[in-house]
Amino acid sequence: MKGRFGEFGGQYLPETLMPAVAELEAAYVEARADPSFERELGGLLRDWVGRPTPLTDASRLAAAVGLRRVLLKREDLAHTGAHKINSAVGQALLAKRMGKHRVVAETGAGQHGVASAAACALLGLECIVYMGTEDMRRQEPNVFRMKLLGAEVRGVESGTKTLKDAVNEAIRDWVTNVRSTYYLLGSAIGPHPYPTMVRDFQSVIGREARGQSLSLLGKLPDMVVACVGGGSNAIGIFAVFIPDSATTRLRGVEAGGKGIATGEHAASIVGGSVGVLHGTRTMILQTDDGQIRGTHSISAGLDYPGVGPEHAQLAQSGRAEYVARTDAEALEGFTLLSRTEGIIPALEPAHAIADLTHIREAYGAELDVLVCLSGRGDKDLETVMGALA
Ligand SMILES: *Cc1c(COP(=O)(O)O)cnc(C)c1O
Repeated sequence: MKGRFGEFGGQYLPETLMPAVAELEAAYVEARADPSFERELGGLLRDWVGRPTPLTDASRLAAAVGLRRVLLKREDLAHTGAHKINSAVGQALLAKRMGKHRVVAETGAGQHGVASAAACALLGLECIVYMGTEDMRRQEPNVFRMKLLGAEVRGVESGTKTLKDAVNEAIRDWVTNVRSTYYLLGSAIGPHPYPTMVRDFQSVIGREARGQSLSLLGKLPDMVVACVGGGSNAIGIFAVFIPDSATTRLRGVEAGGKGIATGEHAASIVGGSVGVLHGTRTMILQTDDGQIRGTHSISAGLDYPGVGPEHAQLAQSGRAEYVARTDAEALEGFTLLSRTEGIIPALEPAHAIADLTHIREAYGAELDVLVCLSGRGDKDLETVMGALA
């Protein structure tokens, strides 16, 4: 079946949406085969996003966690402060090529909404962002940013008034206005072709980091580590290393929240089971009768009850391993990186930083580890201030 990663992935959709994903898949395949699309995207990534992002040799952090070397892939230095812009600008360019003048997106914490609004402003597209009213209240500065960038933010009052309700509304809009409208998805999740397409757009992270690691180390890193929410920054840095199974381990770090045993977490692989969510078969957090469970994480970007289907397959095959780090550990990672390297990370990649001491305990000190630093911490200062008080 199309868009499968082993038993995962696929297109679990109502019939009304099948023509929309078929049109999208055809347009994507055609765009990827067209050198002028690659050229235009490459130009925007370089001149507007600020790529390539640097690779930082974090020697004080490495000493603090007891590893030989830690290399940080600096997605925090990409425009708008995180990796999400790589996929947003790629998809917005595709939308324009498809002749869609209207883009809908959904957002939880607002990071994907901001990236989408910025990409749409750049390319002259109308942008409508669905957001739960509870999230709008918690993320006021991002709501204002999206409006400044010319987007319309539509509050969603249904359900828990958070991300999954916003996804439902965005899908409803897409079905209703499919002729004029492109649905810009924020992670490597959802029905085919999104997991493949978002992975491809985010793979620029891994392509750059692989070359930069080879120059710096004279060899490939022994391990690549990334935080996993929906899984787009992780699959983006993992993808080019998947064939290097003889040299390079892959390790994803999920949000352990208050601890897996408490049930209050967002670790879909470590603490979940197989099911269907938002059009794809993957690992999800569900109750015994298949209802989506409430999630918790200190980092809004990891607070999603599912994961991209390719990660579910990488976990099942053993090519990548997945662990979870708690809120408290992420806070330690947050302060550790700030104090050792002068870099304030987002709370999401702080989970990956917090995992480094566990990597040393499991595999020893003689390791060169590449970490995807997916975003910067400015957005999280209020949360961290509250948590440390
Ligand atoms: C949104 C976000 C994530 C989580 O999303 P993925 O799709 O799992 O990458 C991670 N880091 C940052 C900084 C984010 O904004």
